[in-house]
Amino acid sequence: MSELRVRFAPSPTGYLHVGGARTALFNWLLARKQGGTFILRIEDTDVERSTQESVDAILQGMRWLGLDWDEGPFYQSDSFELYKEYVQKLLNDGKAYRCYCTSGELDKKRELAMQEGRKPKYDGTCRERLDQSDAPYVVRFRAPQGGEVAFDDLIKGRIAFPAEELDDLIIQRTDGTPTYNFCVVIDDASMRITTVIRGDDHVNNTPRQIQLYQALGFPVPQFAHVPMILGSDKARLSKRHGATSVIAYRDMGFLPEALMNYLVRLGWSHGDDEIFSRDEMVQKFDINNVGRSASVFNTEKLLWLNAHYIKTGDTERLADLLLPHLSKREVTTLGGPDLILVVKTLQERAQTLEEMADRAVFYYNAPQIYDEAALAKFEKEHLLAVFETVAEQLSATTAADAAGFDALFKEICIEKGWKMPQVGQPVRIALSGGTQAPGIGEIVATLGVTETVSRIRMAGVFVAGK
Ligand code: GLU
Repeated sequence: MSELRVRFAPSPTGYLHVGGARTALFNWLLARKQGGTFILRIEDTDVERSTQESVDAILQGMRWLGLDWDEGPFYQSDSFELYKEYVQKLLNDGKAYRCYCTSGELDKKRELAMQEGRKPKYDGTCRERLDQSDAPYVVRFRAPQGGEVAFDDLIKGRIAFPAEELDDLIIQRTDGTPTYNFCVVIDDASMRITTVIRGDDHVNNTPRQIQLYQALGFPVPQFAHVPMILGSDKARLSKRHGATSVIAYRDMGFLPEALMNYLVRLGWSHGDDEIFSRDEMVQKFDINNVGRSASVFNTEKLLWLNAHYIKTGDTERLADLLLPHLSKREVTTLGGPDLILVVKTLQERAQTLEEMADRAVFYYNAPQIYDEAALAKFEKEHLLAVFETVAEQLSATTAADAAGFDALFKEICIEKGWKMPQVGQPVRIALSGGTQAPGIGEIVATLGVTETVSRIRMAGVFVAGK
């Protein structure tokens, strides 16, 4: 094990967002690559907005993606005592102070600053105050003044903030609860985090956190701020652009490896490579190669990757993953063809498991209606002749696999002087109800001769009655 310790620290105020998942993925990859430790920490200090449901949704999303953590989940809400101790330590060391300014007073000061064209910043009224009355107070960090706070971000390069821009941060509210930036520092320090990889919406928090590390005598970790994910209109990716929840992608029929592959390439590249297995990602990932600019979420590319993983996926696993999508359609595979065989006939062309499920339905439910427009392209006499001939020949054949059935259909064409589509299309409609279906030999081999013949006869009855 290396010394590297990273963490993913979601706030449980909603599901696992694809942006959060990418941050988690980058952390996980670095840990796995360097033999480090990946920690999961739930930042639930915002009691009002944090829910158990969100925690569950986040864990579910991470498990589905296979982002396994080595330590945790730790909950910030379990550490209130620890935070209090450190607030006290800063108070004792004179590095924090009680501030009795009321919100009304602070509002006035803020307004005045704005009117005078100054940055609204706490003016330090209580910094040097000596009396410690029992009136309500917050605890403020005595931010060091002068100079600048700078850090070398692993993604964004050097970032510096003049210290005078940094406020005397409130670290404990009037009700005694610690504030967000303070908890993050105490946690990252006590969990001995060496590299903080997080969204770049936290860049502005970093100098304040660095000052706190220094005041507490903790080593300052390295930082890597990951650029945002944008929608096609270059605005921050949100529901407006489509699904943003990891689990929604699962439900839409995406494979976890496709989403992982898509997310790793969102902002990171390795030459012209597009396809990365989990192992390859781990081997090749380098946080220094994550781009500085925001990336645009491209559903087409995600679909392309998903199609690739479906096409090349293990059929038995795909069959398992397909089951919930079939249940959603109230399809039971009991008594029908082997689902693995069904998957084999569909995996070449399906972009998602939802699409595959749509196309698999006919194998288990004989068509109730037929695509009449497609049927109308053929003469009634022709249709009846095709159904009759095919049903007869199939009942008598010894062919038993897709190639054998395809050969039989060819023979029928030669014998009757029909072209392949003149037989293939009507039979496809008879078997599946429509024209979108796999190769005819494949369908027959999968459905079995008995079921095929019965469906063809049913279609014959339908056409005869027209
Ligand atoms: N809890 C923060 C968030 O969900 C992450 C904070 C951090 O990574 O430092 O945005």
